Order: sequence, then structure tokens, then C-alpha cells
Amino acid sequence: MNTRKLADQRVIIVGAGPVGLTTAMLLGHYGIECLVLEAAAEVPHDLRASTFHPPTLDMLEDFGITSRLIEAGLVAPTWQVRWHTTGEFAEFDLSILKDHTAHPYRLQCEQWKLAEYLLEHIRDRLPGIEVLNGHRVQKFLQHADSVDVVAQGPDGELQSFTGAYLIGADGARSIVRSQLALAFDGHTFPETTVLATTSFRFHEHIPDLSFINYCWKESGTFSLLRLRDLWRVSLYPRDGESDEEAVAPASIQAKLQEIHPKAEPYDVLEIRPYRIHQRVVQQYVHDRVVLVGDAAHINSPSGGMGMNGGIHDAFNLAEKLSRIYAGESTELLQLYERQRRPIAVKHVLEQSGRNRARMQERDTEKRRRSLTDLQQKASDKALATQYLLETSMISGLREATAIR
Ligand SMILES: Cc1cc2nc3c(=O)[nH]c(=O)nc-3n(C[C@H](O)[C@H](O)[C@H](O)COP(=O)(O)OP(=O)(O)OC[C@H]3O[C@@H](n4cnc5c(N)ncnc54)[C@H](O)[C@@H]3O)c2cc1C
Repeated sequence: MNTRKLADQRVIIVGAGPVGLTTAMLLGHYGIECLVLEAAAEVPHDLRASTFHPPTLDMLEDFGITSRLIEAGLVAPTWQVRWHTTGEFAEFDLSILKDHTAHPYRLQCEQWKLAEYLLEHIRDRLPGIEVLNGHRVQKFLQHADSVDVVAQGPDGELQSFTGAYLIGADGARSIVRSQLALAFDGHTFPETTVLATTSFRFHEHIPDLSFINYCWKESGTFSLLRLRDLWRVSLYPRDGESDEEAVAPASIQAKLQEIHPKAEPYDVLEIRPYRIHQRVVQQYVHDRVVLVGDAAHINSPSGGMGMNGGIHDAFNLAEKLSRIYAGESTELLQLYERQRRPIAVKHVLEQSGRNRARMQERDTEKRRRSLTDLQQKASDKALATQYLLETSMISGLREATAIR
């Protein structure tokens, strides 16, 4: 067997986040060899995605990943928009989607668990996939029929690798995207949001809470998302609060006490400050180099669609590459871009932007209209179905399939 030839035929993936690993797993099942180059030494357990939408669970089911996520996570049959001060809410029940998905609910589970399950699946079942941790990609060079990639290994030495295609799954600060010098148009919101976790059992103190709650308070907004043993709280800065002040323990305590006052301080287990960006790269495909996930699009976490959308990219791209490896035209990569980019713009950025804008609203009258509108939608089966198909990312996927 000509190993050099085999090595040249493989796909190189930069980044072993949820999107890079999903792509690798899928390509492995299509019988395509892959090399995954990941800068970090191991899967980081940082506070990032926690919401999985129904179609993502449907897609991952065949690989045994969904059942593991469900076992480790919390099934959230409903989600709410709440007026915290008055206790009023609009609640959406996803069971209404039972004819559209095998998983008519959101699943609350940490993103790092998905990455670990994917890695285990790859290591146990897919010998054609090699994952090299501690390898930070520095640059790449495209040729007519191959791509050379240079990475710095754990010992600091530069190593080069060759593959037939390169997939940039290297996240928001993607070096692959930077080297392609593509415009990453959009904007970044000025404020820094702080995500805090606590073991305080909000559900025992605030009546009728769902597991996912987007809340208005008197002077702003917060969200309360439950995981199996903890609550995650997104805390928005006060007017005029600096980033430094917003992450200070005193500010976090004060904001938690505003949500539910109690005599003892909250046990804050972890915090993560983050900025909100809304951007989509100008082009997903550049000859043999393709972008997926956060490398291609980043959006407000409101509504939980970034990682989900990236996983949907991975499924679409892996199917196209499998057909190319089976002899079909490389033009299929353009179809990947045509099917996924408009959906990121219209269904992910715009929807998450609308979610964010609604919760940032301070005007009482506008909030009232928004809540009444949501309550009406929630209580009308046809309207609720349409709204949940959209916010659960099913409509976007259907629209993508129709693009040829
Ligand atoms: C607070 C917060 C909450 C969120 N909540 C949700 C949610 O509920 N639902 C949802 O769908 N999304 C959510 N998101 C978004 C989600 O976290 C991202 O969309 C997701 O991580 C994207 O996955 P990815 O694999 O594309 O990129 P990443 O997860 O960023 O992975 C990229 C990988 O590439 C590696 N890498 C980077 N550069 C290099 C290099 N040069 N060489 C080698 N490796 C490299 C990195 O180490 C990393 O492992 C949230 C984000 C935040 C910040």
C-alpha cells in the first residue's frame, strides 16, 4: 500500500472543537481518512454552549452520541420569556414538534461533554481518524490537488502535513480564515456579558420556572439556564459599568441577589465574561479550503444556535465530501456554501439578533407588546408550531435542503 498516497488523500481538519470533531467522525464513517490538528492539550471544560436543539439531537442519534448527551444532560420540554418583576411569562412547549423531530425538546448539556463523547467515539471506532493535540496550525499552502499545513507541535518544532482538503474548524479567531484574508463582516456589541454558574436551586424559589428562561428585570435582562446540577446565569452589565467592574465578585453577587435576595452570598462556582459578535465570513469555500462552525459564523448565544449551526455545517459538508471522494464533482463544495451561508445569515444571525434585541428592550410598553405577542403565539397551535420550527432551527435546515 502506498502510504504517501493515502496520506495525501486525507482531509486535514484544524480544530477539535464540537464542529471539527463532528466533521471528523462523519468523514470517518464515510471511510475518509482524516487528521485533526488541535492546539489545546485536551478538551477545555470552559463555559460555552449548553443548549442542543432537536435537529442536532436527531442528527447525532445514529452515532450513539445523542443517548449519551441525554444521559448526562437535562431534557427541557419548555422554554420561557419571563417578566421577572411581575412573574408573568410566555412558555413554549416543544412537544408540539413531535411530528417534525424525534427529539421534541431542547437538551441542556455542557458542550465539552459532546467533544469528549465524539473523541471517544473516534478513538474506539474510527482508526482512519488521527487526532493530534498540542499542534497549533501556523499556516497552509494550497496546490492544485493538495494542501500543505504547518503546525507547531508540543515540543515547539514545526511539522508539516499534507492532505487533499483542509477544513478550518478553528473557531472564532480562525487562523485558516485569517490566512484566506476573507472579510468577516458584521459587528460586535459594546458590552461584556458575564456567565456565572451556581448550585443555588432557583427552581425551588422562583415559581413556575422552566429549565430555560430569558428574563426582563427592571433595568435590564438576564437569563437562567438549568443544567443537571447547576444553574447558569447570564448577567448583563449595568449602564456605565466597566468590564472590570462587571466581572468583580461584588457586582456578580449584587446581580444574583437582585434576581432572588437571600441572606447568604451565592456560591459562584465559575464565571466566564464574553463579548457578543454577529459576523459571517464572505466565502465558506476557497478551492480546497473550507470553513465550518465559528470559523465561518459567530452570533449572539441568545437562543443557543452557534454550536448547533456549526454541527449542521459539519453534516452538510461531510456528505458533500463523501460524494466528491466517490467521484462526483468538486462543485459540490459550492453547494455546501450555497446551502449553509444564507441560513447562517437569515436563520441564525437574524434570529439570535432578534432574541437579543427583545431581551435588551427597556421600554415597558414595548416589553408588554412583546410578551402579549409571545403569549398569543404560545397558545395558538399553528403559530406556536411555526415559531418553534424556526427557533429550533428546523425551518433553516428545510430551506437549505431546497437550495440546489
Ligand atoms: C457563553 C456562551 C454560551 C454559548 N451557548 C451556546 C448554546 O447554548 N448553544 C449553541 O449552539 N452555541 C452556544 N455558544 C456558541 C458555541 O460555544 C460555539 O458556537 C462553538 O464552540 C463553536 O464550535 P467550533 O468547533 O466551531 O469552535 P470552537 O469550539 O471554538 O473550537 C475551535 C477549536 O480549534 C482550536 N484551534 C484554534 N486555533 C487553532 C490553531 N491555529 N491550530 C489548531 N487548533 C486551533 C481551538 O483550541 C478549539 O479547540 C455559546 C458561546 C458562548 C461564548
